[in-house]
Amino acid sequence: MKDQTVVDVLICGAGAAGLTLALELARRGISLRLIEKMAHPFPGSRGKGIQPRTQEIFENLGILDRIVAAGGTYPPERRYHEDGSHTDTEVVEHQAPTAAEPYQRPLMLPQFLTEGILRERLSEFGHTPEFACELIGVEQDQDGVTASLTGPAGAETVRARWLVGADGGRSFVRHALDIGFPGNTLGVRAVVADVMLTGLSRDAWHRFGDGDMARQLAICPLAGTDLFQIQGPIPATGDIDLSVAGLTAMVAARSGRDDIAIQAVTWASAYSMNARLADRYRVERVLLIGDAAHIHPPTGGQGLNTSVQDASNLGWKLAAVVHGAPAALLDSYEEERRPVAADMLGLATRLLDAQKCGEMRRGREVHQLDIGYPGSSLALEQPPRTGGVQAGERAPDAPLRGAGGQATRLFDLLRGPHWTLLGYQIERGSVVPRPGLRIHIIGPHGDMIDEHDDFRDAYAPAIGDWILVRPDGYIGAMVAADKVDALEHYLAHAGLPAVPQR
Ligand SMILES: Cc1cc2nc3c(=O)[nH]c(=O)nc-3n(C[C@H](O)[C@H](O)[C@H](O)COP(=O)(O)OP(=O)(O)OC[C@H]3O[C@@H](n4cnc5c(N)ncnc54)[C@H](O)[C@@H]3O)c2cc1C
Repeated sequence: MKDQTVVDVLICGAGAAGLTLALELARRGISLRLIEKMAHPFPGSRGKGIQPRTQEIFENLGILDRIVAAGGTYPPERRYHEDGSHTDTEVVEHQAPTAAEPYQRPLMLPQFLTEGILRERLSEFGHTPEFACELIGVEQDQDGVTASLTGPAGAETVRARWLVGADGGRSFVRHALDIGFPGNTLGVRAVVADVMLTGLSRDAWHRFGDGDMARQLAICPLAGTDLFQIQGPIPATGDIDLSVAGLTAMVAARSGRDDIAIQAVTWASAYSMNARLADRYRVERVLLIGDAAHIHPPTGGQGLNTSVQDASNLGWKLAAVVHGAPAALLDSYEEERRPVAADMLGLATRLLDAQKCGEMRRGREVHQLDIGYPGSSLALEQPPRTGGVQAGERAPDAPLRGAGGQATRLFDLLRGPHWTLLGYQIERGSVVPRPGLRIHIIGPHGDMIDEHDDFRDAYAPAIGDWILVRPDGYIGAMVAADKVDALEHYLAHAGLPAVPQR
């Protein structure tokens, strides 16, 4: 057995949630280990839709342009009718980008490519997942967690101050902590397979047998690859032939066509749909994120996105606590994220019901831009606001011009691991600068000029207001000039006390 090593955070599971959390921690200088029981990266496409809110998070993490370059947008859905004709419709309702919401279209990127980009970015911070390394035991005490691992070098005990279970729907960590996972098995079993095929064009998401659960089949060209993803419901029990021959037969039977030939299957799975939510997201020094905390049908493409956003919410808080912020800051993680997952379970299940009848439309609700935490203990308004954006809501973007003359965006100012404090037409100097906080003054005499009033339109600030944006892009506090003491208190609680001046 190797010597016991000590690390700030041990992350179990290197899927989208674990990788995003590792990035959030690594860019804040937290020591971590990211373990993954599979010997190789996950090879499947399953979570292929990247929603606009996740695009904003990926922009903040410095990978959005790589994601866009590697993937593409969704093609129209092509529904084939009994008489051989077809109708094309847009997959998602979307609007043109606005100053406040620059990303409006879901992107398509197979999950294995998204995870590859997350791993590449993580390696830029000096970390890589440890593959073939499995968590097999957990004990915790008031100072930390003792984790038993088994990996290529044999058994090992790791001491970590915190453990995060990012280990998927069957989470070992959730079981080890005996956290309940109530919910429903939805009585739908489905196949998902990545294949090479001929006979279908790549300009549409081909759908056969819509509204008939025995015949439904969706075949989607996977952007960034030569593959197609096949999805379709299958009988609740019994073996399913996921080979080239088996899938070719399924496609022929459901499409009524003999010209679609599958040449290779690179990944395939048959799975039963569930909607379940963990009773708790945290037990002392152990936390859950991603599918370990919530699972639901893939309709609406919410799972990977919600998992990435869990990690984005937890990352800065956990890093702040490791650096000395009050541990109570972590309570806000479950407080903010569990209700979001509960809503998402409802949405995905409603969309599944609509899909069963062939009537699924995905509107703005799948974009996740309206997710926010206005009731959170971290949302401060002094005085309470009567209109406009509220504390706890997503911080809108706004085109600005730097006093030096260059065009920029508010999101450029937010990009990175820091907090951002925006003073509207006020003198710099009434809030003490401190590590981890960037202060910008917006106004004719500030360092940022709101040339076209986009900032004013999005935030509806009064002259002299301070708007504090959290590291995950939500508004933490909105306070008037004469309430700046409340801001000092808030920042101290969040782990950003003023450093005494010498
Ligand atoms: C058909 C299908 C389509 C989907 N489409 C979408 C979509 O369009 N958009 C979307 O957002 N989501 C989609 N999803 C959901 C998405 O794939 C998941 O929500 C996402 O993978 C969750 O990420 P995660 O990191 O939490 O978990 P996972 O991806 O499951 O990763 C968990 C990791 O933990 C590892 N692990 C488990 N136990 C241990 C252990 N003891 N020790 C070490 N490692 C361990 C596992 O090997 C795994 O790699 C889809 C899912 C399916 C099935």
